[in-house]
Amino acid sequence: MAETDVTGKKVPKIDYNKCTGKGICMEVCPEDIFEIRNLSQIEYCEDVKTSGICPDPEYAAKEKRSYPVNINNCTACGLCVDECPEKAIVLIDSDCIE
Ligand code: SF4
Repeated sequence: MAETDVTGKKVPKIDYNKCTGKGICMEVCPEDIFEIRNLSQIEYCEDVKTSGICPDPEYAAKEKRSYPVNINNCTACGLCVDECPEKAIVLIDSDCIE
């Protein structure tokens, strides 16, 4: 996820124990940060590595979830955090993304 330089920025982080893929974040984000789709195993594993959260290994493959793809465009407006019905999104320092 950290293929671009986002040093010093806040970026969205999704808790896959909470995300149900409703897509509200995708609708409200003015910067088109989110996609709703099935996560690959690599994306799933990357999330576990960076968040320390260990959701059900089958979870990612079975259901569509939100995934942040353009995090360098995030302006930290907080709309996704406020509007997520599952409270699954937090903004974290980009330095915390490996
Ligand atoms: S904080 Fe704003 S710009 Fe950043 S991902 Fe959330 S809605 Fe999009």
